[in-house]
Amino acid sequence: MDITTKDMNDFFGLFPPKSFADGKCYIIGAFGNVGAVETNDGLVLVDVAPRQYHKRIFTALRKFSTKPVKYIIYSHGHFDHCFGYVSIIKEAEEKGWDRPDVIAHENILRRFEKYRRLEKYHVWLNSQQFSSIGLKTQKNPVSARETLNPTIVLKGNDAHHEFTLGNTTFEVFHDKGETDDSLWVWVPDKKTIFAGDLVMNPSFPNIGNPNKVQRYPYDWAIAMEKMLEKDAEFIVPGHGKLIEGKKNVKEALSIRAEAMHFIHDEVVKRLNEGKWFEQIYHEMMDIYPAKFKNHEFLRDTYGCYRFGIHAAYRLYHGWYNTGNPTDLFPARSEEIAKEYLHVSLPEKFLEHGKELYKRGKLQLALHMLDVLIKGKELVQKNLLLEAYEIKAKILKEKAREEISFIARNSYYNGIEELKMKIEELKS
Ligand SMILES: [Zn+2]
Repeated sequence: MDITTKDMNDFFGLFPPKSFADGKCYIIGAFGNVGAVETNDGLVLVDVAPRQYHKRIFTALRKFSTKPVKYIIYSHGHFDHCFGYVSIIKEAEEKGWDRPDVIAHENILRRFEKYRRLEKYHVWLNSQQFSSIGLKTQKNPVSARETLNPTIVLKGNDAHHEFTLGNTTFEVFHDKGETDDSLWVWVPDKKTIFAGDLVMNPSFPNIGNPNKVQRYPYDWAIAMEKMLEKDAEFIVPGHGKLIEGKKNVKEALSIRAEAMHFIHDEVVKRLNEGKWFEQIYHEMMDIYPAKFKNHEFLRDTYGCYRFGIHAAYRLYHGWYNTGNPTDLFPARSEEIAKEYLHVSLPEKFLEHGKELYKRGKLQLALHMLDVLIKGKELVQKNLLLEAYEIKAKILKEKAREEISFIARNSYYNGIEELKMKIEELKS
């Protein structure tokens, strides 16, 4: 299913803020979404977006309500959900209000610590993942050196917390999904679920992200089933527009639960049949049901099914993917390429790569061209240049067809790298 620029802009929060549920709830899109509930005694926020959006969300919030912010609940510790608190805290200090209580799961503290320990690495990693929307050019939008830490910490796997503010009750639950520190919030009075990234609208759940640590498909399904029990009328997703109406809410949750059970159970079945990742992956690609593939709520916007297969496998298996001992401690790919070039001339690999490209076998063509690119010390300049140029063309075609933002950016990064190599070679 195609995705337009508008879909992508909506996904990253460029839609106008909107009130709902008797006008007392509010959604502000700012890369990650901010959810707000106004009670008689003040505001409760779920998430505060990335740091660089703090003024924008504050201005939007103050158009909705002038009451003090009493609670901030972090749906999880990703940078796009809990660093945009600056203006809110400044206001509390200026007006002499108490600082809001901050509610989070205990694992968020480990996450913040990890971000500090791996700061440079995360800057680099996120510049890869978000390259097409300019994170590469910003100084350090993801720093966790300054955080607003939780004052109410939920502990353990069954963590649950309930509180009332101005006659409105808030129920906070912990379920793993995209992260191990996720919380979601149910507000019965407003028939609203604030889901964090357990629901992105639209996207296949972001499991198996190629750049990030393990995520949890099975627990994700359970979280969706728990949300379904609430019979909600609204979902504020972590990204993308509000999901409205019982029918849509039910569909958004049940299709995710079904897809997560499917991906988990089909991988488990194949593990029990003694299959390795490579076989499982290609079999899973062949059996992907059309009802998921073509579903409005499961578009590959951000996460995608192909990544998800990795997530389900990694839940139960390590990094040995083929069961072929050749792959256990492989030689450098450059050395392997050079050996191929000792057996056959670079021209042959180039010709065959071009032939495969012509026949539409883009992935196989890339493997052939990589023999020249990786074994470049043994390849004439003009042939190498041609290999770079065709590879860049193929990556562009793949990027054009690719719906997943993360996969598309990986192709873009490859194209950028090739451009530099081409320049270098021509100079
Ligand atoms: Zn997010």
